[in-house]
Order: sequence, then structure tokens, then C-alpha cells
Amino acid sequence: MSTHFQHAREIGTLMCQATREILWQPAADWVRDRSGAVRLVCRVGAGQATYHRFDSTRRVHLINYGARMIAAKQAAESAEGWLSTREIRQRGYFEGEVSPLNLLAHTCCHEFAHLLQQSAGQRHYGSVHNRHFYRILDQLYDSGGAEATRTWLEGRAATLNVDLSARRLELPDPKAQAMRWQPGDAVWFGEGSARRQGLVRRVNRKTCTVDGTGKYRGSRYRVPFALLRRLGD
Ligand SMILES: [Zn+2]
Repeated sequence: MSTHFQHAREIGTLMCQATREILWQPAADWVRDRSGAVRLVCRVGAGQATYHRFDSTRRVHLINYGARMIAAKQAAESAEGWLSTREIRQRGYFEGEVSPLNLLAHTCCHEFAHLLQQSAGQRHYGSVHNRHFYRILDQLYDSGGAEATRTWLEGRAATLNVDLSARRLELPDPKAQAMRWQPGDAVWFGEGSARRQGLVRRVNRKTCTVDGTGKYRGSRYRVPFALLRRLGD
């Protein structure tokens, strides 16, 4: 097992404890009244999948934190693109500051908000991140639950010598990236046999729409800024 993965699992174990001690304990009675759930199981999964699920037969809530998700949130390049990164920046959680510590404390709150949402009967198929969900998540911040989770994680990680950085990650700014491109730019993307070329048709928020040229004429692609290269580069 790589040390990288081992490190992610250690953080995951702390996230499980924080979820149970800081978020679940004060809410447990309310949840039991609402949904008849008897307990919460938190675990660290090997992959990247991170979710809350309610087993209605056994009346058990399950929260799974993916070790690969935890590893990805340690560095700027891989932390970009996660919903938790967007939520912190767009909703101003933790003053909008994205760091490994804030991202993972937020992940605990995000999954726990799903647990509360489900208990309140407001999780609907096809609209999981709905306004009910964000009202609950906002409340976790307003009530101090999110801050308490972060403080607990930071303290425990320090005590146990687990590296969980509170340093801000410098994320690429999508607006600045978008300004580098304009319709008509000749570009290429992809490597080896997957390499394609074309002309920028439209500049979107995080991608360009590209019309294929040459033998790719007739195809249209949506390409993330980070993968686009100027023809001739
Ligand atoms: Zn979610």
C-alpha cells in the first residue's frame, strides 16, 4: 500500500470520527424521531466515490468517504473540479478559502447534509442538490457545526501527526483562462492517436466548443481549457 494512499485513509478515519462526534451526536435524536434510523456507519472506501445512503430495511445511515477523493483534495490541480471546491468558492463557506482541511471538513458537512435532507424527506430522485439541501448545508455553517468539524479535524490531525494542511490552494481562475481564447482560434487537443484539431467556435465558462477541421471536419467537441493547445505551440 502506497504511503500516499495510507495517508488518505488516515485522514478518512478522522473524517469518520468527526462526522460521528461533531455532526451526528447532536442530531441523532432528531434523526431517530424523523426516520427511525437506529445508527450511522461511516467508512473509508478505496475508490473516489463519496456518498450518503440510507438502508431502509436495516434503518442504517451509511456515509462513505473515498480515499481517492481525499487524496485528490490535497493538491490544487486535482482539487479543482470537485463540487466541494465550487461550493466553498461560490457559497463562501469558510470565507471562500479552499485548502485540504477546509475541503475535507466541508465534505463531512456535505454528506451529513444529505443525511439530514433524507431524514426530512427532502431528497428527491433527479434533484439531490436542491434548495432544501442547500438550506440544510447553510444551517450547518450558520450553527457553527462546520467550524466545529474543521477545528476538531485540525486538532486531531495535529495530535496524531497526520498531515492535513490548512494552507490555501492556488486554483486556476476560470475567468482568466477563458480570456485566453476567442472564436476562430486554431487549436489542438488530445495525445497520440486521440489528437484532434479544430477551430474554437464558442468560449464557455470552463470549456471551448471546438469544430473539427481537416479529417475531423463535421465533429464538434467540448474541451476543458486545461487541455487546449494553440496550433503551432
Ligand atoms: Zn452531494
